[in-house]
Amino acid sequence: MENQSSLNELLGINTPEYKTFLVAGPCSVESEEQVMETAKGLAECKVNVLRGGVWKPRTRPGSFEGLGMEALKWLKQAGDAVNLPVAVEVANAEHVEMCLKLDIDVLWIGARTTTNPFSVQTLADSLKGVDKPIMIKNPISPDVELWIGAIERIRNAGISKIVAIHRGFASHKKSAFRNIPNWRIPIELKREMGDIPIICDPSHICGNRDLLLTVSQEAIDLLFNGLMIEVHTDPDKALSDSKQQLTPTGYKDLVDSLKVKKRFSDDKEFFEHINDLRKDIDKLDNDLIDLLANRMNIARQIGSYKRLADVANYQPDRWDEIIRSRTKTAADKNLSENFMLRVYQLIHEESLRQQEPGMPG
Ligand code: PEP
Ligand code: MN
Repeated sequence: MENQSSLNELLGINTPEYKTFLVAGPCSVESEEQVMETAKGLAECKVNVLRGGVWKPRTRPGSFEGLGMEALKWLKQAGDAVNLPVAVEVANAEHVEMCLKLDIDVLWIGARTTTNPFSVQTLADSLKGVDKPIMIKNPISPDVELWIGAIERIRNAGISKIVAIHRGFASHKKSAFRNIPNWRIPIELKREMGDIPIICDPSHICGNRDLLLTVSQEAIDLLFNGLMIEVHTDPDKALSDSKQQLTPTGYKDLVDSLKVKKRFSDDKEFFEHINDLRKDIDKLDNDLIDLLANRMNIARQIGSYKRLADVANYQPDRWDEIIRSRTKTAADKNLSENFMLRVYQLIHEESLRQQEPGMPG
């Protein structure tokens, strides 16, 4: 992800410039004091925008759903007190209208809303003629097209200041993350929409404080343009997302520990080393492609014998055996079993496709 020279400038935000664009604040605005105290704590740290949720999209009814318009006023008031622009999540036209009434600086579309094109279109219609930065979180599922579609709907409404937010993806798999980062999806978004800056929301990826620094650093290393981090004066008592919020001090420590690396180096020795090694990689990649082509060729021959003998292409016992033996061989060579599993799943899927004449690629 190319480092934007200045996200502040692009978004028309008048706060000091840091190497990383920083959005921070509570998951939910809970009271006038809570948001004011958090804002004052954050004013001592590096931060560009104060965030706070006032309409909370909760998975189950009965959880804290935000305090609406009243909380929006407290958020704006806290931002004004410390000279920070404020950002809030909007999910429908009524929310947009209330934000415009209070001149909220930045609006964002949450993951659950991005998932639904009808909702995004309603929001886009309500934003026509509005000159405010709009941040668009990825949809709940790892579907880059749905994310791109939401960005296009907002852009087609005439909004020019758009930022994407990567907040991870829900998964049925057991994981250390609340929402699996699946970095290839934001990388794919960047490839398709190179002009859209992307920031990362490690709070909703992690779901707990322990992994926050690792994930934030990973995002910085992948050249994300900024971070959105949840900060609360008393996280353990927070009414939503208490496990993942940081105190302002915790936030300061995290931001101070981040290392922003350079994009390039023109050091001659570095360049020579890298170039030599890249030549080796190029050669190995050619070999890999040859090997894969040979393997597919053999898979097709097996397919013809199966067809002649009227035997099913999918052979579960053989497939189990391949997975077992290949992941073991890989582990012996210090390769991750999970990585090898994913590689072989792709190879197997392609082999089956090649054995089924007429299956589109
Ligand atoms: C939030 O930012 O508080 C939030 C609800 O996030 P998401 O839409 O990513 O779940
Ligand atoms: Mn939250």
